Amino acid sequence: MYEPKETLSMLASTQIVIEDALTKLGFGEDMIELLKDPMRVLTVRIPVRMDDGHVRVFKGYRAQHNDAVGPTKGGVRFHPDVNEEEVKALSIWMSLKCGIANLPYGGGKGGIICDPRKMSLRELERLSRGYVRAISQLVGPTKDIPAPDVMTNSQIMAWMMDEYSRIREFDSPGFITGKPLVLGGSHGRETATARGVAVMIHEALKVNGIALHDARVVVQGFGNAGSFLAKFMHDSGAKVIAISDVHGALYNEDGLDINDLIDRRDSFGAVTNLFKNTISNEQLLELECDVLVPAAIENQITAHNAHKLRTKVIVEAANGPTTLEATRIVTERGILLIPDVLASAGGVIVSYFEWVQNNQGYYWTEAEVEHKLREMMIRGFNQVYQIHETKGVNMRLAAYMAGVQKMAQAVQYRGWV
Ligand code: GLU
Repeated sequence: MYEPKETLSMLASTQIVIEDALTKLGFGEDMIELLKDPMRVLTVRIPVRMDDGHVRVFKGYRAQHNDAVGPTKGGVRFHPDVNEEEVKALSIWMSLKCGIANLPYGGGKGGIICDPRKMSLRELERLSRGYVRAISQLVGPTKDIPAPDVMTNSQIMAWMMDEYSRIREFDSPGFITGKPLVLGGSHGRETATARGVAVMIHEALKVNGIALHDARVVVQGFGNAGSFLAKFMHDSGAKVIAISDVHGALYNEDGLDINDLIDRRDSFGAVTNLFKNTISNEQLLELECDVLVPAAIENQITAHNAHKLRTKVIVEAANGPTTLEATRIVTERGILLIPDVLASAGGVIVSYFEWVQNNQGYYWTEAEVEHKLREMMIRGFNQVYQIHETKGVNMRLAAYMAGVQKMAQAVQYRGWV
């Protein structure tokens, strides 16, 4: 069970909960041994001709957790801190997201160690194409389907798809999701994660008997998920009383004008640097509110501050913002936690819709996408909440149980374990 180990790596803490979940579901050692690590991790070195003429070699990864349910699926991140352990853990999390949403996929994840903020567009294009050449044997529309993640976007997906289509010599939009609309992207993909988080906030407020227009919401992070989410909450009548970015946080107990902040932020999502009266990210987390949404980076809610939070609900829009020990503390304190693998499943759900539309060659309206996304998120929430209540386990363990069950059954039916 959960030990108060704050220093565990993402992979180690994921493995602890996977083991707990499989044990609670009645699976044995062999299943745990198989599913606690990805079935395949490819390391590649990608030579890229930089604009100044010299060649730089970048290191990248693609991890495929398990394909018993179907092809693996998950994003590719471009970040200086990418490492093999992290990519492995993230591939397991993708399996859990797909399992909770009942998508016909296992989890995958890719990453390249690089800093896109310091590269030109042409260098990024060569890197993206080089990555696809390096992994092309192991990926494909029925094998492993990449998507955007941290610091990758629809333009990068377009280059990657084009490179794959050239290698395979046929047009293959279903190779990758998160594409621009004109290349077979789906309506609603860009806002999908935030939409899904918003649906989770509605459900969590219902459980707590709080009306949306009375809710005070705090959002940590103003990137893709955080800014769209703040906007959706603001537009639907809730009071967003604080937001933050890398520089600091803004707080107004009467509610912030989110649309104005979105208009004024720079291309990296920074806006708080334009204001004098800011508070720190640490202070933001401890504000009195109804919903706290960590939408930035991992390890924000820890044993050090979990006792001090003054929220009724935590909805994890970021990956891994709450440590295992903090999960235990907030659960004990009666705070309802909507874990990352459930709360942030909106992105991969709409990626699945994109892939389905590519396979059919028939495209849906934004309203259809939003309706189906909402339905799937609510089904996921109900399933996890029910396990939490009936089995008496915390919401994270409940989400892992919901997320891993189908995969373990598929493994069993295939006779792998
Ligand atoms: N990168 C996103 C995630 O972590 C989306 C993955 C996908 O769309 O396949 O959930």
